[in-house]
Amino acid sequence: MDRPLRLKPASWLVVGGRPQGPGAPLNTPLVPASNFLLGAGRAYARDDGTPTWEALEELLGGLEGGEAVAFASGMAAVAAVFELLPLGARVVLPQDCYPGVVGLAERWAGLGRIALVRLPNEDTPAWVQAAREADLLWLESPSNPLLIVADLEAILSAPRKPGAILAVDNTFATPLNQRPLELGATLSIQSATKLIGGHSDLLLGVVTARDPGLVQALRRIRELMGAVPGALEAFLALRGARTLALRLERAQANAQALAERLQAHPLVARVYYPGLPTHPTHALARRLLGGFGTVLSFELRGGAELADALCRRVRLIRHATSLGGVESTLERRSALPGQEHLPPGFIRLSVGIEDPEDLWADLEAALSFDGS
Ligand SMILES: *Cc1c(COP(=O)(O)O)cnc(C)c1O
Repeated sequence: MDRPLRLKPASWLVVGGRPQGPGAPLNTPLVPASNFLLGAGRAYARDDGTPTWEALEELLGGLEGGEAVAFASGMAAVAAVFELLPLGARVVLPQDCYPGVVGLAERWAGLGRIALVRLPNEDTPAWVQAAREADLLWLESPSNPLLIVADLEAILSAPRKPGAILAVDNTFATPLNQRPLELGATLSIQSATKLIGGHSDLLLGVVTARDPGLVQALRRIRELMGAVPGALEAFLALRGARTLALRLERAQANAQALAERLQAHPLVARVYYPGLPTHPTHALARRLLGGFGTVLSFELRGGAELADALCRRVRLIRHATSLGGVESTLERRSALPGQEHLPPGFIRLSVGIEDPEDLWADLEAALSFDGS
């Protein structure tokens, strides 16, 4: 489960998951097959996988330090984790958390399948305490959209209930900035739709684990729920992942520069970015993360109206949801249902790999309301 050849992550991203042997194509072929000739193990794609997803799983498993199981989307991966739980399981979720995960957990709680508890992301002692009784501790770090960094080191090494699942949604950090399995997590979850794919052209999710029993159970759930990745999506995710290290480096340098400039802007009340010393979990981010990430949020003085105007006025930056693409996007997250904990003028910005001066010029022009 070590990264083969003990390569550094950026090198493994380039060479991992490639076909081997004389005459093999250098790149993994896109294999759009539902079934295979019988007699050699692989019979049906939903049960047995395809060469294209397996290459992606090899690449991402090697990166996180476990075995990866790929799903149709990030939410399909999340739902598979919930399927592992016994009836009546005690589930703990952070207060600032991806809305889809909250929606799924609330639905399960409403059906009486789980007991749901929410804790403040930054309240480490509460999480350490909760680990003693929880069946599933769900952490998201940095969190969406407040970018709160959880003390994974403390929480993942705390005494836990036997058999408990400690899952970390690692989407915002990517396995380059944080590897939860190495810190003691049972599962690491990625929406590969975001930075792994990196081009906003696919949906795919991945769960990585070290425990062979859990890996087998996740594969069985995928097979029975039919939550399998598409061949093209797996191919594109593999293609996108090759450049993850470069994209991440550039986009998080851009994010840091924009965060600093936004913080000095008179119309900006507050910037949320773990790379800023003013962020409440900056010290933890410095200690635990390899980089501060590509997403930042900010709050405009002038509330929802000004924030909506900014969303309409940006030109290089696109007004769109989601994150992790090569292109910068922003949206007013406080306009979304279930995000009432955010101030009205709250904007989330996913920073891409454009020239930082162009990005800043776009934001600055869109924020000059009097001169235009
Ligand atoms: C997008 C996202 C998900 C869900 O992934 P999909 O691929 O959209 O299903 C889960 N967690 C986080 C943090 C996300 O950003």
